[in-house]
Amino acid sequence: MSLFKCSRCGTIDNTGMTPGFWIRVCKKLDPLCTECNTGKWHDVFPKEAFDPATHFIDDVGHVGYMPDPEPANDRPGSADKNTEVLNHETFKSPMPRLLRPDKSG
Ligand SMILES: [Zn+2]
Repeated sequence: MSLFKCSRCGTIDNTGMTPGFWIRVCKKLDPLCTECNTGKWHDVFPKEAFDPATHFIDDVGHVGYMPDPEPANDRPGSADKNTEVLNHETFKSPMPRLLRPDKSG
């Protein structure tokens, strides 16, 4: 189960909750959330809008959550090597890329 961004309303939904999600993927159609598909939200979890400040979209169109952008630098002297934040470069996604076929090659 993965998260994706609805191409119509921008809501984040779960691929496993959305009727017809994989049919749309197979037909190369943009993904729609449950509400855009059926007219009603599933209420399994609250609706949440995609926010580029807190979410990112990976190379296969899945939505993930950014690591905390604010390093804990308000605690002087607590240079703990175990609190290393994940490399932010890994999560940069300049533009959302939603399940588009790659025409390279
Ligand atoms: Zn939607």
